[in-house]
Amino acid sequence: MNFQGLQKVDYQPKSFLEYTKLMPEVVKEIQSVAKDLKGLRVVHLNATAVGGGVAEILRSEVPLQTDTGLDESWYVIPPNMEFFEVTKKIHNLMQGKPGRLKTQEKKIYIQYNKFIAQALSELQPQPQILIIHDPQPAALISFLSEERPDFVIWRCHIDTSSPNPAMWQFLLPYLKCFDHFIFTLPEYTHKDFPPPNQSSFFTPVIDPFSAKNILMDKGQAKEYTKKFGIDIVKPLVTQVSRLDPWKDPLGVIDAYRLAKKEIPTLQLALVAQSATDDPEGEVLYTKVRDYIGGEKGIFLLVNLRNNDKAVNAFQTASSIILQKSIREGFGLTVTEAMWKGAVVIGGNVGGIKLQIKDGVNGFVVNSPIEAARKIIYVLNNPQVQEKISQNAHESVKNKFLMPHAIINYLNLFKTLLNR
Ligand code: UDP
Repeated sequence: MNFQGLQKVDYQPKSFLEYTKLMPEVVKEIQSVAKDLKGLRVVHLNATAVGGGVAEILRSEVPLQTDTGLDESWYVIPPNMEFFEVTKKIHNLMQGKPGRLKTQEKKIYIQYNKFIAQALSELQPQPQILIIHDPQPAALISFLSEERPDFVIWRCHIDTSSPNPAMWQFLLPYLKCFDHFIFTLPEYTHKDFPPPNQSSFFTPVIDPFSAKNILMDKGQAKEYTKKFGIDIVKPLVTQVSRLDPWKDPLGVIDAYRLAKKEIPTLQLALVAQSATDDPEGEVLYTKVRDYIGGEKGIFLLVNLRNNDKAVNAFQTASSIILQKSIREGFGLTVTEAMWKGAVVIGGNVGGIKLQIKDGVNGFVVNSPIEAARKIIYVLNNPQVQEKISQNAHESVKNKFLMPHAIINYLNLFKTLLNR
């Protein structure tokens, strides 16, 4: 098996002081806590620098934490399709899918984790805190050298409350070696593990100053979507997501087709980006394309050039944003759209339920029929759109912006180090 060494991710520097106007209290707290943590060496490791929510967050979180005075770096696992086939299976099994890993798949997983551990052990000086994101690299904890970081944290972004039992039994001995655990929500932890005194809960957040989230003029956003064939005079429903069965792209198309019977001018955009660690994307692309079958009014837009600006434009220009997931750890796409004041109709699951209070700052639905009814209702009631839009923006501002995560991390580091 081939291993090309860890890849260090480069990023643009950022200043947390940019947030002073937007959230002065949180910035003040960051300044105060960060004083005691100057120079703290922290390393993040995850599976991919592009595609998916984890990469999206780290791209802003790491430079902002560096700006508070920490010495922070971000590494990703070198892509290896054999390994990522296995880890995608692990990801699905950890979220409860039936099945089990074959012996050969376990071997691949362990062998690659050994390589990663060895590469991490070669970092000099060793980080004081190492944060491992998600199950892909979780087993490496057992193979770190003796001179290992003072604290190794598992940051789990998925729902592990009811994993496949065989998968859980396999991974548990590795998980038990971590010093601390961060989950998105208490309800995403398994009832037996980890113990509450080793667990923290941080929701993901967005960066309102990134190219993806900087507020864009609606007219300009609409103009931008024209490049992709959208008719800006007609209503547009968009889902921005990886092509993944949990995101239910076929259900989105069903909902659109039902709503179109009432609103014949309706258009649908499926904006998708493939993550380098997601081999399923290709298979689903073909399935979705065939399901659309060339139907006019549906736009399947994959790996768009200038991705961040394109996502921003679609989230700003669309009449409605759908996120019809049937499982969702958090759903950054929901946060991003709500920040822009979009009316979001989301699946009534996980992190979407956490973000959307039905009828107050968006809507949650349980089926394509419900989604279609809500699309029709929203499009026929402009005054509802306005109210929901304001509430959506406010709720993100109060809870889900980058400084909220920075302060959570700093406080955790302080507690762990007893400073
Ligand atoms: N995303 C993107 N381009 C796309 C599709 C998705 O940049 O074409 C981004 C999206 O804006 C969000 C992230 O990928 O920031 C997806 O995160 P989310 O938490 O919604 O889902 P995940 O992919 O992590 O399951």
